[in-house]
Amino acid sequence: MAEGSVVDGNALAARALVHAGVQHMFGVVGIPVTSLATRAVAAGVRFIAFHNEQSAGYAASAYGYLTGSPGVLLTVSGPGCVHGLAGLSNAQTNTWPMVMISGSCDQADFGKGDFQELDQIEAVKPFSKFSAKATEITQIPRLVREVVHRAAADRPGGCYLDLPTDVLHQTISESEAESLLSESEEPQIREIGGVGALEIEKAVSLLRHAERPLIVFGKGAAYARAEDSLKMLVERTGIPFLPTPMGKGLLSDTHELSATAARSLAIGKCDVALVVGARLNWLLHFGEPPRWSKDVKFILVDISKEEIELRKPHLGLAGDAKQILDQINKEIKDDPFCFGKSHPWVEAISKKVKENVAKMELQLEKVVVPFNFFTPMKIIRDAILAQKSPAPILVSEGANTMDVGRAVLVQTEPRTRLDAGTWGTMGVGLGYCIAAAVASPGRLVVAVEGDSGFGFSAMEVETLVRYQLPVVVIVFNNGGVYGGDRRNPDEITGPYKEDPAPTSFVPGAAYHILIEAFGGKGYVVGSPEELKTALAESFSARKPAVINVIIDPYAGAESGRMQHKN
Ligand code: ADP
Repeated sequence: MAEGSVVDGNALAARALVHAGVQHMFGVVGIPVTSLATRAVAAGVRFIAFHNEQSAGYAASAYGYLTGSPGVLLTVSGPGCVHGLAGLSNAQTNTWPMVMISGSCDQADFGKGDFQELDQIEAVKPFSKFSAKATEITQIPRLVREVVHRAAADRPGGCYLDLPTDVLHQTISESEAESLLSESEEPQIREIGGVGALEIEKAVSLLRHAERPLIVFGKGAAYARAEDSLKMLVERTGIPFLPTPMGKGLLSDTHELSATAARSLAIGKCDVALVVGARLNWLLHFGEPPRWSKDVKFILVDISKEEIELRKPHLGLAGDAKQILDQINKEIKDDPFCFGKSHPWVEAISKKVKENVAKMELQLEKVVVPFNFFTPMKIIRDAILAQKSPAPILVSEGANTMDVGRAVLVQTEPRTRLDAGTWGTMGVGLGYCIAAAVASPGRLVVAVEGDSGFGFSAMEVETLVRYQLPVVVIVFNNGGVYGGDRRNPDEITGPYKEDPAPTSFVPGAAYHILIEAFGGKGYVVGSPEELKTALAESFSARKPAVINVIIDPYAGAESGRMQHKN
């Protein structure tokens, strides 16, 4: 940099991001942040430019989960910020680290109806754990550092940084920029650890004396990279385990102690449940009867004290999942115990698993054409399992597609499943695919999603092609939400009775042609052989592809497995 040169807010923010360790950014450029994006690219950040901030935000949220470093979303002011809230709220609800940075209108013109004016700090409040606005250029390095740090500190979540147009246009000298950037580099120590020896003893004693123990783990354990510690605990003690949907793969679904296929029995009858990095929310039936026994003793491991206070478990261990599991393993090592295969509880779970797996296989063996959900799902399962390690990252959304996929698809490696998550967010698919491909270069990413989920962000297939990402999107096309127009003729009344049903899309939509418009590869399939060929070709090509799988519109259930809520 020439002596006497000046640095503006955009360039300073870009450099501050690099100083904070940011390697990737997702977003949509425009006023006033285009220069921030180009400066960031020049400084070594890979910027993935999307069509819509919503998808870019979903990408940033999933990137944070997959990498453990906050995913960064860049948006323009006003409406761009509002669109980005989809991603920020998704990160916050899933407890994933993410930073949203938005440009905002000129401070001097705020309140006068400026271009894209919005009180963005107020707008992000319900969806972020920390937010800040730089009111002058000199604050940028410190605030960038702070949002990036806070997003991943303690319980991960969403943070927001507001950069007004006038601040982005202010300038300072190169030497002042350098000194501000180096001042902001103070190391920030994460003080999360394990728990006291007494609590660990209590936890081990509860497990040791249980008659029907169960280990449940979720995406918090995946985020903590606790897979090796979990494996050691499960294999040392012989206790059956149950992953939540996104916990799947931390220990292979094919592990002999996996209770996934005996879920109702496992949660209904266990007397002590060690729950690691998973909230006792709707996904786990709130930990309440009738799904759980009223006498079950929960040992809850969570980084968040508030979460533990909310659930009031028998024993709460607040700290990092991996460290706490390591403490538990150490305690057990000195005085080992193991439930062994012939223990009545382990045997009962194993018997139920075998029965249910056999039932499922019987259902999967029936080849149904026109396709139901099971026939293509089995073919996809086998094609994914045939891939060498590292296993493909699976992205799954939709009602029936996600429900059936969760039961049929097999996860063998950690953090290989991204789905609608805690919030049941639909439309995350393409953003998650892009995040997964960017976070793990070269790894195959496979999306299995309904046509409705796909449609939320289908334009991002162009983004896949533009960056040549190895993503194969498999669309289960049944002509709409739950299955298109399935009304009885006597239900169709009123002045708009000629309109298509609220649940329907154009039947037989040619989604495969959409990607071809941009130079990607499209397939349409309606038979097992066609699907097998499309999978074989697209998986080995590792290029962007869409496989349009035509499904019988009458095959799915309305609202999938959540009919009682619709
Ligand atoms: P799932 O959807 O898989 O059930 P949840 O999102 O409900 O998982 O729960 C994840 C939990 O993990 C959150 O309550 C979060 O506070 C917690 N968590 C996040 N990081 C860690 C960590 N490093 N150690 C322990 N718990 C964690």
